[in-house]
Amino acid sequence: MPISIDTASGLQLADGSDGARQRFANVFRTAWLTIPAADQQRIVTWWQPGFAGQASPQVQLLANYNMAAAAEAFGHHLNFNSDVCDLMPDAILADLIGHELAHVWHYAQQGSFANTIGATHQQRENEADATADGWGFCMANLRAWANANATAIVAATGNQNVGW
Ligand SMILES: [Zn+2]
Repeated sequence: MPISIDTASGLQLADGSDGARQRFANVFRTAWLTIPAADQQRIVTWWQPGFAGQASPQVQLLANYNMAAAAEAFGHHLNFNSDVCDLMPDAILADLIGHELAHVWHYAQQGSFANTIGATHQQRENEADATADGWGFCMANLRAWANANATAIVAATGNQNVGW
């Protein structure tokens, strides 16, 4: 069964997700409700049409995902590594979720780096960080936690490049 994150926005954690699912859903809900209503609305409007014939978003907590997290499929698939999420304190997990939702917000924003062909990975990360920080998440805390736990993240993801 999927786990509801927020009924008003139709957000749910996909069936088959791994790890501490209810705890993840609770932290996701808290993070989501931190975002200003107008920005939530922009994101929901982006998700509304669905993607590739599937309802959107697909929020998944995956074993062995090769990054800590990523907003894939133009922000319609939000994938999280379950082992990494389970290691994170609630506040850090909320920062990670805020960052991925910021990527979605930029997909919904004309002229963003997310929508600019030829934009660099760093430009896309920087715009997501700036938006997430503006919402009250703390990208510096997320980075500091990841630096302190790099060995565990690499072991969980199988990827030397720690990223989200
Ligand atoms: Zn990112």
